[in-house]
Amino acid sequence: ESLHGQDTAMATLSLNALRKTYPNGFTALHGIDLSIDDGELIVVVGPSGCGKSTLLRMLAGLESISDGELAIDGRRVNDLEPAERDIAMVFQNYALYPHMSVADNMGYALKNRGVPKAERRRKVEETARLIGLEDLLERRPRQLSGGQRQRVAMGRAIVREPKVFLFDEPLSNLDAKLRVQMRIEIRRLQKRLGVTAVYVTHDQVEAMTLADRLVVMNGGHIEQVGTPMHLYECPASHFVAGFIGSPAMNFLDARQTHGTLTLPCDTRIAAPSARDAIDTPVCLGIRPEHLLPVDEPDDTTLTTRVELVEPLGADTLAHVRLEGQDEPLVARLDGVHAVAEGDTLYLRPDADRLHLFDHETGRRLD
Ligand code: ATP
Repeated sequence: ESLHGQDTAMATLSLNALRKTYPNGFTALHGIDLSIDDGELIVVVGPSGCGKSTLLRMLAGLESISDGELAIDGRRVNDLEPAERDIAMVFQNYALYPHMSVADNMGYALKNRGVPKAERRRKVEETARLIGLEDLLERRPRQLSGGQRQRVAMGRAIVREPKVFLFDEPLSNLDAKLRVQMRIEIRRLQKRLGVTAVYVTHDQVEAMTLADRLVVMNGGHIEQVGTPMHLYECPASHFVAGFIGSPAMNFLDARQTHGTLTLPCDTRIAAPSARDAIDTPVCLGIRPEHLLPVDEPDDTTLTTRVELVEPLGADTLAHVRLEGQDEPLVARLDGVHAVAEGDTLYLRPDADRLHLFDHETGRRLD
């Protein structure tokens, strides 16, 4: 469905070896390659300083491209001004004009573009209906709640009918409940309008639930691109494994001899891949939900001491330490679990769900 009765324009984005070196000589992006499909929602995640905002600003045209090529629908746009790119950006701090009504805020870009008043009004009203703002059009921003303001910021972007939406942590100023609502709304709108979108967030749940594909960045590089489930189940590196998932994946130093892994506490488990290895150091990754509590210890279990219990209702997080070792681990136990600080907890790594990484390079082994 298109917004104003016109066919929605196709928009593919293609990033080829995009580099950014700031005037002070610092290289924030070292050659980013990515093809984004028409109507796709890409979420970019990564630690602070990895270059997410730089990338988004380059797409928007707010930051120059040092090298490489950016194309929209196959057309090079490197040197186009922001206004010429058909891209709309939604920020976390809404940036609404305080002295203008909601309607005027939403119609501002159209007015600048010289769209006649009657048409502007029609488009603003249509968009307002689409996102549930029709009763608030005469209000000023200060007379709105945070969620309503965020909706106006979205509306202002939608009304321009851009080919591409960019979101820079648009929900980070909202409370938890509203974030969930707006997250669902953004997803619904983006699919309904069929626009291509790139979304930067720090929020794991937002990233996992919104993304058609997730891009994990690290130090100005892309570490991995894939569907959220693929990245969760098959992280290509130690870095991605530790970044995707909350609480984070547990890592244990282990030694592999052919099909057997020996853990620090002399626990022996079957390796997920039987390589030709003899006493080779590897890094074993186990997600918190794949440490299964058992009543009796054996040589496939880890004996741990409980240090902290976090009951979350639907499940319980047990922060434990391997007995006789310094390794902190987190286990996610089903439901409300009767464990207490100081208890001994026997945990069996789920042999089918293990991840193995090269000790040196951090690359996935399988
Ligand atoms: P955050 O999650 O904290 O917002 P980010 O991933 O968005 O981080 P960027 O803001 O893109 O990171 O910054 C990437 C790197 O580029 C950082 O090391 C930052 O210090 C550096 N940087 C950003 N702007 C400039 C600038 N104008 N001049 C020099 N270096 C900059």
